[in-house]
Parts: sequence; structure tokens; C-alpha cells
Amino acid sequence: MRGVSSFSTGLRHKVFTNTKRGNAYEPSRPNIEKAGQMLIQHDGLREVGAVISQDSTLDLDSTRCSMCAAVRAPAPDAWDEPLFESANFVAVTSIGALVPGWLLIVPRKHQLSMGFLSNALSSELHAFKNDVADVLGEIYGPVSAFEHGPSAAKRLAGCGVDHAHLHLVPTTIDLRREAEPFLPSGAAWMVADEGACKRAALNDLDYLYLEQPLGSGSIVAHDGIGSQIFRRVIASALNVPEQFNWREHRQLENVMSSIWTIRAYEQRRLAGCT
Ligand SMILES: [Zn+2]
Ligand SMILES: [Zn+2]
Repeated sequence: MRGVSSFSTGLRHKVFTNTKRGNAYEPSRPNIEKAGQMLIQHDGLREVGAVISQDSTLDLDSTRCSMCAAVRAPAPDAWDEPLFESANFVAVTSIGALVPGWLLIVPRKHQLSMGFLSNALSSELHAFKNDVADVLGEIYGPVSAFEHGPSAAKRLAGCGVDHAHLHLVPTTIDLRREAEPFLPSGAAWMVADEGACKRAALNDLDYLYLEQPLGSGSIVAHDGIGSQIFRRVIASALNVPEQFNWREHRQLENVMSSIWTIRAYEQRRLAGCT
């Protein structure tokens, strides 16, 4: 695992100094107009408001996309506040987090899945993923990455949000093995790299992509993949199979715990205490 010095390679991260909250599950919503007071900005971090005002990439899909709305929101919900960012991606907590430390890496501009990214964006994603996972690994232990990659909008294989997002989850559950019972008949894992996601997208195939451990990729590309498969796998392995659906089980305790733990870690790190 690389050390946190990898930040110097370009990972920009935010640490919020204002932690005043009404109660444990309804944190204050930082006001962009006060961003200068509320953010410790470093490594060239751009102000969120500036990013939003510069973003003129609205298209037909993005205007209907809840993830695009969250990324562009001037005062997003606490769980949509980026914890880390690169030029074209943000890392946010995941509603429905079945374990603490569960983050999503999301492209700022609307894409259906990571399989549709340009080569340049894929390279940036690769580096950003590793940098964020390094931090999560320091806090929570081994981290896995996975994606539910739909081939088109409103496909069952997605998570119900048709905006690309790569899950980063601290877990030692053997996801490849535990997923076997959830795969459609005839589907099987194949060793793969991120390029396999592009090939699946090109061939109009839904896919499940997994890196466990990080950097060791596997893919299932198939047109019969069910909904929220990795979430079902993890919920089942945790003996809470009924909690797989993020819409019904928002897991805000884990979400808020992740936000506070990661921000506290970053504050300690900036103070030279880690
Ligand atoms: Zn979108
Ligand atoms: Zn997903």
C-alpha cells in the first residue's frame, strides 16, 4: 500500500472545520458562500462553487440525473459533499453503506458507467481510486472496488442511478466467491482489467467489475445481471440480506460515521499527527 504521501501526486481533499450539527443524523449543510471559512483548501483545491459555475456540460441525460444534480448542488446533503476530488472525479459517501468507510467515486460529468470513459479519464480514475483507497486502507483496512455497469439507462444491472459510480468498500468478504449464487445462469468471472469494462460497454453488455484486492480485477459481462448484486452479496454475508436495497435502508449511521472518521483522520494528518 502506498503511503499518504501519494496526495502530492494530485489527490485533492477537503477537510471541513465546521462540524456543528443539529443531531447525529442531520448534520449542518455547509454553505458555499462561506466555503472559505469552512474548508481547509490545499493542493490547489478548487472551491466547490467555482466548479459548479464552470460546469457547462449539461446534456439531456444529465438534466434528469440525480447524481448530476448532487454533484452540481450549491448546498448538497452532507453525504453528497465530496470528501476527495480530482479534476474530473469526486469521492462521496454512499447512501445505503452496509459498512463504515463505503465511498463512491463519481465522474463530475454524466457517464452511464466507467466503461464509457475516455482513456484519459480512465487513467485519472485509476490514480484517484488508488489514492482514495490508500486513505481508506489506513483507516479501515483492506479495500475492494466494484462497479455495477449497466449497458443502457434503466437496466436492472445498475444500482437505480444511471450515473457511473465505482464503489470503494472496506471489506474482507470474498466478494467473487460470495457473488457466485447471485450470477445469472451461464455467467462466470473472468480475470480482467479496467479495459474489459470498455469492451463490455462497446458490446452492449451489462457487467459486474470487481477488484479484490485492489488492482486484481475480475469481470462478469452478461445481459441477465440482476439489480444491486454486490449490495446483495455484502448484505447477505453480513446476515442482513433484507437490507441490500439502499433506497429502503439508507444506513445513515454508517454514512455519517464515515464522514466524521475520514474528516477527523485528514485533520490529524494535516496536523502531522498520523
Ligand atoms: Zn448524471
Ligand atoms: Zn452501484
